[in-house]
Amino acid sequence: MIKKIQIYNPKNRKLEEFNSIEENKINIYVCGPTVYDHIHLGNARPIIFFDFVKKFFEDLNYEVNLVSNITDIDDKIINRSIEEQITEKEISEKYTKEYLNSLDYLRCRRPDLIPKATDYVDSMINFIQELKTNNYVYETKQGLYFRINSVDYGVLSNQKVDRLISKKNQDFEKENEQDFSVWKKTELGLKFDSPWGEGRPGWHTECAVMNHKIFNGQLDIHGGGNDLKFPHHENEIALIKAFTGKKLSNYWIHNGRLDFNNVKMSKSKKNFVRVADLPKEKVDAFKFLILSHHYRSPINYSEKLLNEYDKILQNISKKIRFATLKISKKRDKFLKKFDKAPVLDMICKDFDTPNIVTRVYNIIKKIDIEENYFSVFHELIWIFHLFGIRINTEVPRKDISIYEEWVEAREKKDYETADRLRNKLMGKGYL
Ligand SMILES: [Zn+2]
Repeated sequence: MIKKIQIYNPKNRKLEEFNSIEENKINIYVCGPTVYDHIHLGNARPIIFFDFVKKFFEDLNYEVNLVSNITDIDDKIINRSIEEQITEKEISEKYTKEYLNSLDYLRCRRPDLIPKATDYVDSMINFIQELKTNNYVYETKQGLYFRINSVDYGVLSNQKVDRLISKKNQDFEKENEQDFSVWKKTELGLKFDSPWGEGRPGWHTECAVMNHKIFNGQLDIHGGGNDLKFPHHENEIALIKAFTGKKLSNYWIHNGRLDFNNVKMSKSKKNFVRVADLPKEKVDAFKFLILSHHYRSPINYSEKLLNEYDKILQNISKKIRFATLKISKKRDKFLKKFDKAPVLDMICKDFDTPNIVTRVYNIIKKIDIEENYFSVFHELIWIFHLFGIRINTEVPRKDISIYEEWVEAREKKDYETADRLRNKLMGKGYL
């Protein structure tokens, strides 16, 4: 099935037609977590969303290669290791494990590759050395910096360079205040030998080099949180442009942030809910909450909101289970044929999941009187499969008999028996 897919372009703020580099193949890179603290619900948003994106492309028969990295070299890890008096490796291994457990807990498939920055340090050093030889990078006593004026900088945020100043780095030897660090010279914490002495690569260098090594210029979509657009992604783009003369990625998908009770969920502010603390029975409701919002929109998460989505999803599940009961005897006779086009069209328009959710609500509203009962039933099951949400459609034989007896009793106008059987079905959660 050939579908015209459109993806939002942050540069011109317009939807643009998507074309993969290789036919029916797609490479996606998503910036993964810096493993110095717990994996929270804000981190879970891209995990859930990109699992959905992968399922969608697979449904269109694309071969999807989803890569999401682990940032295991970072000042935050080093600070945490000093604080807790254990090694950086122990810190990063502990939270890498929590990240992998979180993927399982959310029932999201693991990315096809999860590269770690520490496995690419040699490549990073060679990369920086070559940029230095070509005058894109210069050295000071404190480290090595990228000359942002050497490339067309700021293309993604579509802003003038002087508005994109990161004030974090205070090195008075820098040629230009806006130049960013690609290598930090240090004797403190995790460090590696390099032609410039001991030190460690900068975060932007890490992602740029992993991207380059893994995809070699064949990256279709680069993803990550909207807050990574600047400086992280701008810097990644600049590094790759300088190194290869080409653009890093053809398309960008930035997910909106997830606030917690109106404040940004963030590890550094200690304002977060761990994925592990999400009640197991509400994981599906959380995924439903995430995908009920457009990926670019912010979400203001609260327990109240989660409970609201839980209630809605339970109601939908109940309706689907009842539908299962109704069609169970005839189920095999009906081909699982239904028209995917309306939903696929919504996804093709910049992943419009809220519109799909509206469609689900509309189907559920009239499911009892639906003439194409079987096709809408299979459509719902398929939508929830794409969303990665489990809907129980197993019904015991005994319950089917109760349902049939109920139908028979109503036909015979034996209302007493019908009421009794109805109550039985209600007790079992079908009604
Ligand atoms: Zn990154």
